[in-house]
Amino acid sequence: MLELHNVVRHFGGIKAVDGIDLTVQSGEIVGLIGPNGSGKSTIVNLIAGLYRPTSGRVVYLQEDITELAPHERTSRGIARTFQNIRLFSALSVWQNLWAARVVRESGWAGLRQRWFAPESKGREQAEAMLEFCGLQHKRDMLAGNLAFGEQRRLELARAAISGAPLLLLDEPAAGMNAEEIDDLDQRIRTLRAQGRTILLIEHHMELVMGVSDRVVVLNFGRKIAQGMPHEVQQDPQVQAAYLGADEDDELAQLALQA
Ligand code: ADP
Ligand code: MG
Repeated sequence: MLELHNVVRHFGGIKAVDGIDLTVQSGEIVGLIGPNGSGKSTIVNLIAGLYRPTSGRVVYLQEDITELAPHERTSRGIARTFQNIRLFSALSVWQNLWAARVVRESGWAGLRQRWFAPESKGREQAEAMLEFCGLQHKRDMLAGNLAFGEQRRLELARAAISGAPLLLLDEPAAGMNAEEIDDLDQRIRTLRAQGRTILLIEHHMELVMGVSDRVVVLNFGRKIAQGMPHEVQQDPQVQAAYLGADEDDELAQLALQA
């Protein structure tokens, strides 16, 4: 479904992404992990179109999308959440969902046209996603006034609206407590059961190792390991990357399982 071919992205002298090949099959959940600064968010931005690669190609559904603008990728069904939540904080929960659906299908011009006359199809989809994120009782609350975990849930629902087939989730569990993470785990599984394909960037090991079919590990913009979650957890290179030293295998093992 998604292929990155030798993708490179430099920022000045920083090689944020340094020649990545990555394939995500339809229906798969692929975990993308790595220490801070290893290039994970840059990869999300390269797939979503916020950044263009210095070199390399991004292919989605057999089509080269390397040069497409972000909104063109959105309309082809690539949706994402942000490491730092980005909602319309001055709009209500329901308006955030409804607006996302209109923008996805008709662009920003469509949103301007329909703001005062929301049509029924958009309403139904917004209602369905309101239920998905469990915020029916807060539908009219301003998104900016939601609790942190609720904002993350709303952002996930907003990304998933209109049946977007490919979801890029950038650290969706960041800042969540254990209960909220369990809840997120269930929602990710629900999305998979709907046939979504997910690239999950996550630091929370139990979540990413539990829910991913396959895990890819980055360090300094390069892929250092990939495989089934249990294979990756055993990999000495991965353990070393997480602790920056390879003597403390036992400790690294713990860090990866925590
Ligand atoms: P991760 O998400 O794995 O923590 P990032 O992809 O955010 O890592 O960052 C990878 C590297 O690229 C870091 O060294 C970061 O400082 C750098 N970087 C990311 N985005 C930019 C940018 N817009 N301008 C300059 N440097 C950037
Ligand atoms: Mg990041």
